[in-house]
Amino acid sequence: MMGEIRSVIELGDGRLRSQAQPVHPVDDPQLQRVIDDLLTTGAAKNGVGIAAPQVALGLQLFIVASRPNPRYPQAPTMEPTAMINPHILSHSDDLVRGWEGCLSVPGRRGLVPRYREIEVAYQDRYGQVHRHYLQDFVARIFQHEYDHLQGMVFLDRIHDPRDILTEAEYQQRFG
Ligand code: ZN
Repeated sequence: MMGEIRSVIELGDGRLRSQAQPVHPVDDPQLQRVIDDLLTTGAAKNGVGIAAPQVALGLQLFIVASRPNPRYPQAPTMEPTAMINPHILSHSDDLVRGWEGCLSVPGRRGLVPRYREIEVAYQDRYGQVHRHYLQDFVARIFQHEYDHLQGMVFLDRIHDPRDILTEAEYQQRFG
């Protein structure tokens, strides 16, 4: 993976609020470069996920890359995965609240309700279709990134503004 770090757009940029478009074909060299750049950008900025709209590309594409890092020390480890044209096929009834941050919302953390388990489908970077269940933190990342493709950010899911903290306050309490 020899991607370049792209600049991440932030809350207030209208491109974060746009509906992303389906991607095809997947084997396009430019798309493969975007995937490499997203992988590199997410890793460089200690993200556990990053979506194409965050680098101002209106494509239905994101990376899920759970791993422990300074921003998420408790995260489980998985192979960073590009998910293209993703869908949520079904979800559990139960919602769990957990802390989230976002590279496009620097300096803030929020307590966000998400489905504990989801059934998802997506294409990988080779065009292969995958369909499986995700639970807990990885399901949370998927739902967070999926929201980006609909022009949503995690703050939109928070019912009580008192569930939003500064990063410094979050680190003091939970870091
Ligand atoms: Zn985000």
